[in-house]
Amino acid sequence: MNYIVLDLEWNQACDSKTKKESPLLFEIVEIGAIKLNKNREQTDVFHELIKPQVYQSMNQITGELIHLNIEELADCRTFKEVATDFLAWCGEDAVFCTWGDLDLFELQRNLDFYKLPPLSDKPIPYYDIQKLFSIAYEDKKKRRTLAYAIDYLQIEKKIAFHRADSDAYYTAKIMEYLKEPELYTNLSYDIYHVPKTKEDEVKIIFNDYEKYISRAFEDRTEIMQDKDIISTRCYLCGKSTKKKTDWFTMNNGKHYYAISYCEKHGYLKGKIRIRKNIENHAYAVKTMKVISKEEVDVLFEKKEQAKLIRKEREKRIREQKKKKI
Ligand SMILES: [Zn+2]
Repeated sequence: MNYIVLDLEWNQACDSKTKKESPLLFEIVEIGAIKLNKNREQTDVFHELIKPQVYQSMNQITGELIHLNIEELADCRTFKEVATDFLAWCGEDAVFCTWGDLDLFELQRNLDFYKLPPLSDKPIPYYDIQKLFSIAYEDKKKRRTLAYAIDYLQIEKKIAFHRADSDAYYTAKIMEYLKEPELYTNLSYDIYHVPKTKEDEVKIIFNDYEKYISRAFEDRTEIMQDKDIISTRCYLCGKSTKKKTDWFTMNNGKHYYAISYCEKHGYLKGKIRIRKNIENHAYAVKTMKVISKEEVDVLFEKKEQAKLIRKEREKRIREQKKKKI
């Protein structure tokens, strides 16, 4: 297998009217990538600019950020040609690595737009190096800029940031510092394509939690009736747990939470995020995690607060209605 450290630059609409009418939100104008072998040593480089088909002028902020003007792109090859060559260069068993969680999604959106074959028709596992940096050096949650990470690791800044080739180069440089094999158990999934069938669903146990990406459903109600999604079974021993709460929401059904108790592993927090993909299909990303008694108390407190806020709001609405009568 090869790691493909990928960075893309894209252009977007210059004004909100064009943005609304545009068939493609972000048009890729540059692909930069570094190929690493399984020992994460650099073996090859890919870099090409792309002639735009959708936007004929450069968004000002984008242009200033990436130091590209539209004239420079006029003689380049089209996305279809460049992307076809790029994917052939990547090879069959490529594992993508990107700084942040946007590039693989936008690559697929552009492939789709130009009616090129998809990378995959289901979620794609990849490494988000921004996340791995946070796990290795910070609190797992913070997301830093590439420039911050380069300074932090005291890597020499030989070339300017914000171009696809240089950002791919720096991301690969950072990977030289991320040596711990355990780090690479932290796969991310790009969900441009939601699992179509039960078999394609993703269920994966990380160090301290389990993640489950469901197939597409009609709506939230259907999701919250699915036996597997609302199961609070312990991911460590597979046994049923004692429910301490039903699934409850604190923000109008975007996220649901449940607390349960495993005889062997203690308290578990379940969280279901309801999300929609670009085709407007609803799906669930569920996590199960062992938590401490203190964390249980905090969650209960938040639940009570949310309940109070909801009650107050309902009361206000009732009073307003009364005034109108
Ligand atoms: Zn258990």
